[in-house]
Amino acid sequence: MTTHLKSNSVASRDVASQLHSQTNPSRFEADGPLVVTRGEGIRVFDDAGKSYIDAMAGLWCASLGFNNARLAAAATKQYGELGFYHTFFNRTHAPATDLAEKLVALTGMEGGKAYFATSGSEANETMVKLAWIYHTVRGKPTKRKVIARDRAFHGSTIAAASMCGLTFMHREFGLPISGFIHTLCPDRYRNMLPGETEAQFVDRLVLELERLILREGPDTIAAFIAEPINAGGGIIVPPAAYFARIQAVLKKYDILCLDDEIVCGFARTGNWFGKETVGLKPDMIALAKGLSSSYFPISAVVLSGEVYEAVKEFNKQGGAFGHGFTNSGHPVGVAVALEALKIYEEMNVVDHVRAMGQRLRSHFADMATRFPMIGDVRGEGLMLGIELVADRETRQPFAPELLAGQNFDRIAYDNGLIGRCMGDTLGFSPPLIIEADEIDQVADLCEKSLKQLQVHLS
Ligand code: PLP
Repeated sequence: MTTHLKSNSVASRDVASQLHSQTNPSRFEADGPLVVTRGEGIRVFDDAGKSYIDAMAGLWCASLGFNNARLAAAATKQYGELGFYHTFFNRTHAPATDLAEKLVALTGMEGGKAYFATSGSEANETMVKLAWIYHTVRGKPTKRKVIARDRAFHGSTIAAASMCGLTFMHREFGLPISGFIHTLCPDRYRNMLPGETEAQFVDRLVLELERLILREGPDTIAAFIAEPINAGGGIIVPPAAYFARIQAVLKKYDILCLDDEIVCGFARTGNWFGKETVGLKPDMIALAKGLSSSYFPISAVVLSGEVYEAVKEFNKQGGAFGHGFTNSGHPVGVAVALEALKIYEEMNVVDHVRAMGQRLRSHFADMATRFPMIGDVRGEGLMLGIELVADRETRQPFAPELLAGQNFDRIAYDNGLIGRCMGDTLGFSPPLIIEADEIDQVADLCEKSLKQLQVHLS
């Protein structure tokens, strides 16, 4: 039990009262929490007044930083006018309509519709249910299975966690549930075979997918889900030809393509949506996080006109779309999201992210010349990763017990930089409002931390 925490402090009361997501309970009891008291731009402050640059924008989400006054004002205004109303049973309100219209236009899903939910997991599960309706209406009710990819992250509810390709999301719960299957991860750095060209790698990924479909039976597969760039699995950018080739296979077997843009959406990768960065043409898109800069728990699915027509057709004889969350289209959530979108447009977010991303990437490329343990620098826009290795030539990873990534995070944290390791890949996904001098500060803190890590590992 924690003894170093002041009695009756937030930290000690928290240890006594709260179960935390993705946190080791014993280690938490020993170490206690980071108590965050306030935010200022890209920084957060702890209860001792120490300042940190949060180079992960929280959980890849606070794109407008941690104390945006306009988002606060938009929420306050909406609370004053209509603090709650739902969108069940034909009800709506103007902010929900405005946001639905805007999302359909922004995503280029003309003829489609937007559906609101409150978390990324709910949005992903909604896409699966819509895929089931779609196939049922078209006389193919056996098409139920969903193909995801190894190392994917798609959320924490039962089906969303089943779509994850990460054992830590499965092991305590006996997941995945049946019907959720996985294919290869398009990781060029780790999964290409010695001597294999990128074109051959794509051929192999496509072949593996097709084999899986044929093995399971094409008439059992409803959908394929992917992030344009896999965030939580380690910032994995697929080969350029990957999605076009994968989508040809999906089309051949009448399998819907579900695009999880929960991290990549709203300019994170240097385009409005990650699908533009990687050449993906989905049937449905899941949005969350950057949608409201996570100032309100809101998510959305944008579905194609064909999928919408299936929902309509299914309920032609009466009945209603049997799905919904109490807070779907919450007026405050949609008002905050509308304001966030307005700010993104005013700040020319796409151009800004490209410029800042380029700046951070060249710092990392420069660091790679000084630190042989940097094996790979990858990513797009402001979604970048550095993979640490014991030997750059052979790509030999560090021994797992060295905890190279975790030690970097600990050192960086002491230096006032919040990063996020995924194994030995260091993730950087700062708030999109980050400016050039702040990019340089992130790079300086990263370099300082790498130097200390080098000493620690030697
Ligand atoms: N999809 C991706 C790519 C994510 O990164 C996340 C969350 O980190 C989710 C889905 C799940 O979102 P939520 O935690 O809001 O359910």
